[in-house]
Parts: sequence; structure tokens; C-alpha cells
Amino acid sequence: MSFVLHGIGVSSGIAIGRAQLVSHATLEAAHYIVTADQVAGEIERLSNAIRTVQRELESLREEMTSDDAPAEFGAFLDVHWMILTDPTLAETPKRIIAEQRCNAEWALTQQTSVLIEQFDAIEDPYLRERKADVVQVVERVLKVLLGKPGAVRPTNAEEQTILVAHDLSPADVIQFKSHHYAAFLTDLGGVTAHTAIVARSLNVPAVVAAHNARALIRENEMLIVDGERNVVIVNPDRAVLTEYRLKQGEFALEQKKLQRLTTTRATTLDGHQVELFANIELPEDLARTLEVGATGIGLFRSEFLFLNRIGLPSEDEQFEAYRSVAAGMEGKPVTIRTFDLGADKHKEGLEGLSRVAPNPALGLRAVRFCLAEPRLFITQLRAILRASHYGNIRILIPMLVSATEIEQTLALIARAKESLREEGLPFDAGIEVGGMIEIPAAVLAIGVFTSRLDFLSIGTNDLIQYTLAVDRADEAVSHLYDPLHPAVLKLIAMAISTSRKASVPIAVCGEMAGDVRMTRLLLGMGLRNFSMHPAHLLSVKQRVLNTDVAKVTPIVNRMRRSDDAAKLAALLDKLND
Ligand code: PEP
Ligand code: MG
Repeated sequence: MSFVLHGIGVSSGIAIGRAQLVSHATLEAAHYIVTADQVAGEIERLSNAIRTVQRELESLREEMTSDDAPAEFGAFLDVHWMILTDPTLAETPKRIIAEQRCNAEWALTQQTSVLIEQFDAIEDPYLRERKADVVQVVERVLKVLLGKPGAVRPTNAEEQTILVAHDLSPADVIQFKSHHYAAFLTDLGGVTAHTAIVARSLNVPAVVAAHNARALIRENEMLIVDGERNVVIVNPDRAVLTEYRLKQGEFALEQKKLQRLTTTRATTLDGHQVELFANIELPEDLARTLEVGATGIGLFRSEFLFLNRIGLPSEDEQFEAYRSVAAGMEGKPVTIRTFDLGADKHKEGLEGLSRVAPNPALGLRAVRFCLAEPRLFITQLRAILRASHYGNIRILIPMLVSATEIEQTLALIARAKESLREEGLPFDAGIEVGGMIEIPAAVLAIGVFTSRLDFLSIGTNDLIQYTLAVDRADEAVSHLYDPLHPAVLKLIAMAISTSRKASVPIAVCGEMAGDVRMTRLLLGMGLRNFSMHPAHLLSVKQRVLNTDVAKVTPIVNRMRRSDDAAKLAALLDKLND
């Protein structure tokens, strides 16, 4: 039966392929019955998986040096070790396998559900929170059982597989960079949640917030994902398939045409030079950055180096990642954002980033967490500084809100420099330090930033979230997430004009920078530096090349003065005519 699901298209294009259902949610393991003579094999499989995870934890414990990791990281590993070796987890599932003749994954998740219920009934909030540790340990064992990474089966470019999940964390999606999925589809998610941002960087269509997609779609069913029109067609009939194949071809042709602009300078019709930088998550993204001709990297989301691994990257490992990107960019600016962990980018083992924070987006996130964990921060700062000797690196600090935070950060950078000097290690002494403008308070008191920092970058994803009090990752309120809200426009315009007046360079590195419908609006506000995923860079360049700033500015000025949503939408259409 053919039917249509609606969601939010977070990455445009059309994909046609077969569904592959995946799950990162621990308790969604598949159930199957095994024969009596397979029982011993299943028990053996579970024992081996538990032993593998034990070995992982042991080697981490050994590797951990007190300089690199906060003390709580060691305690976290100990807690996980205890959970893993406790008979309720290590032994009871084996009994379940024997009694119910089921697979190891199922037995483990059944027993986990029982444990979770017991934790939920505990009154002591500290002990209750340990439930998250149990889930993490089980996830780890399940990953080994299922074969890494998780339940993902290998795919190839010809097979055209569409990944369907209830929810995916940014860490899940980043793993898929090495898999050739034709599209992504999830039940949950918001347009600027990190999951969506990473999906977008894979340059494949994606639709999130498709509600019951995971439950309604069956493995291997034929799907069309239309990221432009926000729909998914399940089991399309032949006529619809033919129509979409045509559209797919047209889209591919458009993309191909854009490649001609790779080496063209981004200059507006009336001669304004515009810098189009790339946002990257991992050093592997460098190739795509160079392919589209980005003139710099405006946002390296360094926290992705911390995800999908047990333990933390050492100073040397980070140094190598930053050095390779800086060297690859051959003197062009590389802006490394110090790690922005917390909220939807969880790092297990760092207690301060607990998933159970009352409101993680307003909690110990980004620079707040770094300042609370100065050893971890200094390790990263030293790695960035050392890499600065090999290219044109700048440091960007996320989520700053006060002068005190800026000063504390600058003092830690000075300390990191001092330690390198003492060790005789080279670095760029004049390295520029910038701040992200992501909180309305930062715009309203922008002088605090312009007087202390070398450059600024507006993180519109968070700026919109905090201005409108709309969780960017929550699809229940995604209809309220509005880049065109008059308050958002006023804040962005104000940030750009005040920093320009103060002669402090300013960029936009949130998703608005990569949305062609916003290009003229931002140019009219005076923006001359955009940073976006490489996938969007050439379309934005095309728009820059077709824009006369002098002509669009009066329309943008009307938009800045308007508080009327309908009028704003009409003026945006006029801008993009
Ligand atoms: C932003 O908030 O706009 C931004 C660029 O940072 P991130 O999306 O990583 O929070
Ligand atoms: Mg942000």
C-alpha cells in the first residue's frame, strides 16, 4: 500500500531507495527464537561481548593520564566496570537465553528493562540517575553483539539504501559519513538539531520529525524521500516513481552546473567581496571543503572528535587533527571552535554533562563546561596552539555570555601559551581569538565582546533557540523555530552593524548562512562572511553573484523595521525574486 508521511526537510534533494530500519535506542533490539542446540552459542556470544567491553574499559583505565582527563572520568569507568560485572547484567540474561530460547540481544535488553524499572522506583535522585550508566553499558555490549557500528549493515553506492530511525544522535549520524546512505528519515528531530546539521553535511536528502515513520515503514520497502517538499512516499506506484526519477535527474543536473563556480570569486553585482567559508565536523571533511573552493573554514566543530569513542582524544591526537586541517587549507583561515559539548552532544563519562541536567541547553554546555574543567580545556588549547604553527588557525569560543567568561578564557589561553613557551614548542603567538554570538544577551551587550575579542561569529542556530525559547532539537515545538521572527532579525542586524562599526570582523556560521533564501537578507544587513556546510556553498555563491547589494538593502531595511510576520515573509519573497 502506498502512503505519504510528512516531516521537516532538513536537507534538500530527492532520494529513491529501500528502507533500512536502524535503532540507536537500546531497547529496540530484534527478537528471534533460537533452536535448542544454538542456546550455548548465544550464551557464548554474550559472554564474549561482555569480555570485549571489559577489555575496552581496562585499556582505557590504563591509558588515562591524570593530565588529560578529569578525575571523574576514572570514577565513571569504575562504575561501568561494576555494572558490567554485576551478575544482574552479566549472568541473568544468560538464564533468559536458556529459558526463553531467545537471541543474546533480546535477553540483554529484557533484563535491562527490568533493571531500569527498579532504578525508576528508587527515591534517592543520585542513585536513580545511575540508570543512565546502566543504559550506556548495555549500549556498549549491544554494539559489540551487533557488530560495530550498531545495527548498521554495510551499504554501497548502487544499493540506494535509506536509513529510517526513531531518533539519531549527532554521534550516530557522524558514523554514517563512511556509509553510502541515499537519505535519512527520523521520527524525531528539529531543523537545526545537530543530528540534522550532520545529516545535511552528508549532502543527502533528509527528513526529520516524520513522527511514526519508524513504526509504519517496514524493512526493505521502497521509499522516496523528498527533502525539498518535506515528504516521504512509501511504496510509490510506477507513475510517481517515474515522475520522481525525472525530478531527481533535474536536481543532479543543477548541482553539476553549480560546480562551474568553484573557482569563481564570490563578488556581488555591485562589487562587494564576500568570503564563503566552510563548516566542518571532522578532518575528513577537508576534501569536500577544497572541492567546493571554500576560502576558509569558519567553524570546525571540534567536539565531534570527542564523540563515538570511549575516552578523550589526547593532546597529540587533537594536535594532529587540527594540524592536518590547517596544513590542508594552505594558509587560508581555519577557525577551530573549542569543544561545544553538552545539550544534544553528550559525552559519556563527563559527569558535568549529565543527560539528566534539568535543562541541558541552558546548563553546563560549551565554554561553561570548559571553564569548569580547565585541564581538559588547556589540553585542547595547547593542541590548537601547537597546530597554529602549521597554518592560519583562529580560536573560536562558543556560547560566551559575559566579560568574566571571556577574561577567564583569555587567561587560560595565555597559560597554555606560557606552558608551550616553557617547553620550547612553536606556536602562533598572535593567534586570533573570537567569540560566538549565540545568546541574545551577547548581542545586547556586544561591546563586551568587541572590546575583548578579535572577531565574532553569529551562531544563528542557538541564537534563534535562545531568543524564542524553542529547543532546537524538539520537534514538538519546531513550528515555533523561526529565523524570520522579527526579534531574531533585529538581533542579527544589530550584531552585524555594531561589530562593523567597531571594526571587528563578523561572520554567520549557523544554518542561516547556508540557506540561499537568506543570502540577500544577510548581505543587505552588511554581512560579508558566511560559513556553511560545503554542500551549500556553491548555491550560496551563485546567489551572491546575482545580487546587487545596493538594490536589496532598502528592502532589508524595511524588514528590519517590520514586526509583521506576513509582511516579512512577503518582503523575503520580494528579495529573492
Ligand atoms: C550555531 O549555534 O548556530 C552554531 C553554528 O553552533 P552549533 O550549531 O554547533 O550549536
Ligand atoms: Mg551553537
